[in-house]
Amino acid sequence: MSELRWNPVLEEWVVTATHRQDRTYKPPDGFCPLCPTRNGDFPTEVPAADYEIVVFENKYPSFRRDPCVPAVLGTELQPIAPSQGVCEVVLYTDDHHATFADLSVDRIANLVDVWADRYEELGALSYVRYVLIFENKGDCVGVTLHHPHGQIYAFPFIPPRVAKELESSSKYAAAKGRCMFCDLLAEELSDGRRVVAENADFAAFIPFSARYPYEVHVMPKQHRESIAQLSRPERRGLARILSTVTRGYDSLFDFSFPYMMIAHQAPTDGGQYGHYHLHFEFYPPHRTAAKMKYLAGCESGGGTFINDTLPEETAEELRAAIGRACARTGARSGADDVAGINGTAEAAGSGGGPGGCGA
Ligand SMILES: [Zn+2]
Ligand SMILES: [Zn+2]
Ligand SMILES: [Zn+2]
Repeated sequence: MSELRWNPVLEEWVVTATHRQDRTYKPPDGFCPLCPTRNGDFPTEVPAADYEIVVFENKYPSFRRDPCVPAVLGTELQPIAPSQGVCEVVLYTDDHHATFADLSVDRIANLVDVWADRYEELGALSYVRYVLIFENKGDCVGVTLHHPHGQIYAFPFIPPRVAKELESSSKYAAAKGRCMFCDLLAEELSDGRRVVAENADFAAFIPFSARYPYEVHVMPKQHRESIAQLSRPERRGLARILSTVTRGYDSLFDFSFPYMMIAHQAPTDGGQYGHYHLHFEFYPPHRTAAKMKYLAGCESGGGTFINDTLPEETAEELRAAIGRACARTGARSGADDVAGINGTAEAAGSGGGPGGCGA
C-alpha cells in the first residue's frame, strides 16, 4: 500500500509505503543485492560481473510510476492522493566496501553527469514536480544496505523544506533584485571563518545558522539553478569539492563518518526558478566522535534546532581534518585529480581562513 495523505495542520503530505517494511535489511556478507552477479546461484540487482555506475528503479519504492489503489478513502479535510513518482537507486561502484570518500574524482565527475541526466529525464515526466537526489550513509542514518549507493526520489510535489527555501529566496529576489544564495555565499567567502574548502567553481562552508555541528553546504560560485546547468569544468569542480568534504569528514575522528547528503535544486514543474541556486547540504548526525545529535523534543516538537557547537569552531576543526586528509593523499600519490584537494585549485587551511592545502 502506498499513498499520499494530506496533513491540513502542517499543510504537507505524508507518504505511506507499507511494502517497504519487507525490504532487504542488512544482508550477510556475500549476499549483497547491490554487488555484481558473481555466481549464478545468487543473482543480484545487477546482472554483470562488474560495473562502473548503475542506476535502477528501487524495488521497494516510496513512489511508483503506476501507483496502487490507496488503502483508505480521504475526506475533504484530509484528502488522499496517488503516490505517483519514481524512486531510483544509484550504485557508485561495484566495490562493496568502498564509500563515496573512496571514489576517484573521475568517478564522482561521472556520477555528477548521471545526476544531471536523471534530473532532466525524471523531471521531464508529466507527474514529476521535484527530483530529490540524496545519499544516506551509515547505520545511525538508518542505512539498510551498506553497498555504496545514493538515491533519487522523483516527487509528485515539491517537498516542504525545498518549498520553504523557494519561498524565502523568491521574496528576497523580489525585494533586493538579487539571488539570496549568491549573497549568502559572498558573505561566507568574505568572512571566511566558516569556509572549509574552496576551488575555482565551488565553495564549501558550515552555514552561519547550521543545525548540525558539522553541517556543510556546497555551492557553485556562479548562479546555477540545477546540476544540469553546470559546465564541464564546474562539474569537475563539484566532484573535487564533494571528494574533499567527504574525505575531510572521515579524517575528523578517524572513522568513516555518517551523513545525509542532499542536492537542492530547482523544481521540474515548469515554473520559473531564476531566484533559486543549486547547493548540496550535508547533515552528519555526530556531534562528537562518540555522541550523536538526536532530534529530540525541541527539534521534533518545536521545529527549533539546538546546536551545541559554534559553526566557527567546528569549521576550524573540519578545515584541519581536510588538511590532514590532504596531507595523507599528497604523500600517497601527489596526483592532482585522485586527491581532489591537493591540487592548486583546491584550498583548505588549518588555521584562520581557508588557506592553501597543497596549493
Ligand atoms: Zn555490495
Ligand atoms: Zn545565485
Ligand atoms: Zn537547501
